Amino acid sequence: LLSADGRVRASIFAEMSALAQATGAINLGQGFPDEDGPEEVLSAARSAISGGMNQYPPGIGLPVLREAIAEHQARFYGLEVDADHETLVTAGATEALAACILSLVEEGDEVVTLEPFYDAYGGLIALAGGNHRTVPLRLPHFQPNHDELRAAVTDRTRLILINNPHNPTGTVLPQETLELIVELAHEHDALIVTDEVYEHLTFGQQHIPIATLPGAWERTLTISSGGKTFNTTGWKIGWVTGPARLLTQVLAVKQFLTYVNGAPFQPAIAVGLGLPDAFFTGIAADLRTKRDVLSAGLANAGFEVFESQASYFVVADAAPLGYTDAAQLCRELPELAGVVAVPISAFCHDDLGAEYASLVRFAFCKRVEVLELAAAQLGDLR
Ligand code: PMP
Ligand code: GLN
Repeated sequence: LLSADGRVRASIFAEMSALAQATGAINLGQGFPDEDGPEEVLSAARSAISGGMNQYPPGIGLPVLREAIAEHQARFYGLEVDADHETLVTAGATEALAACILSLVEEGDEVVTLEPFYDAYGGLIALAGGNHRTVPLRLPHFQPNHDELRAAVTDRTRLILINNPHNPTGTVLPQETLELIVELAHEHDALIVTDEVYEHLTFGQQHIPIATLPGAWERTLTISSGGKTFNTTGWKIGWVTGPARLLTQVLAVKQFLTYVNGAPFQPAIAVGLGLPDAFFTGIAADLRTKRDVLSAGLANAGFEVFESQASYFVVADAAPLGYTDAAQLCRELPELAGVVAVPISAFCHDDLGAEYASLVRFAFCKRVEVLELAAAQLGDLR
């Protein structure tokens, strides 16, 4: 976690956002939207603050949010979740991941993730003393090979940690792969932690929470967050749902991480979770347009673009432009094109496969005019 000279190693997202600020480049690196979300949600937070909701809420979260989370799981996925015992509010999905991993993984336990993987997974598995095994997502569709998945999960596996829809590739795992993961978890008595923060940001495919599959609920913890769905990444309100037996262990750790989280933001996220269906289909449709604008721009600029099925992100290969080292390209990109992006290598272990070396992640959760400007500037790379 520290660099060789003893300094804190900044996350790739912080590093790239700092680069964008320093150079004035367009930030397609860190995934955060450049517009506010629904006014109902924002005004609910304002009202909560002016109404005096400014002291510690309960550690497990305010009842109004826990009920809204349970209702959301029932409404979208037909999952019956007990708000009192099967939901836990956290400081974003990040704390949810931390509390799940730190509570369930013992020194030496194996944790299997897909690769590329969201950077916090690697750091948290290391903090817990776990061994991180990965299953590569294979080009061009960034799907895991089932034989490789089978080989990675063994009796040493404590957790299978998946991210679906997937950051950074925008891939959605098909039902057969989710079924295999449940089967492997049973076979090897492993638990499943699933990070579904992009659950509402899919472009045509229905999101299938792995917890809805037969035999999954009892061994699965599902994580999500209000940040992506309501454009409130700075509020850090996330949650975990799952069986009470497992959530109790997660809460035992969570209480010593943050104790409690952002009281006035909790009723506001509850309002968001209760918005009509049209809101949820609307945000996905809007983001899909943005994906299309940026993907077309990247293709015009000479990148090979891999279709993103979900999330804030699209992956593009810089090799056709003559750039084989995406990490190097991303350091130069502000100067070359006035754009910041993130190399896929930042989501991989050091021995990353050669097929990933020239891949770049671009965020399209920005206003269309910003994406068009970025695309035009990237045209200078040729
Ligand atoms: N998981 C994934 C896959 C993410 O992309 C992110 C970041 N946006 C997080 C977790 C962290 O979410 P939060 O900001 O709610 O902590
Ligand atoms: N999840 C966002 C991303 O992948 C931002 C994460 C962060 O800043 N830690 O870009």
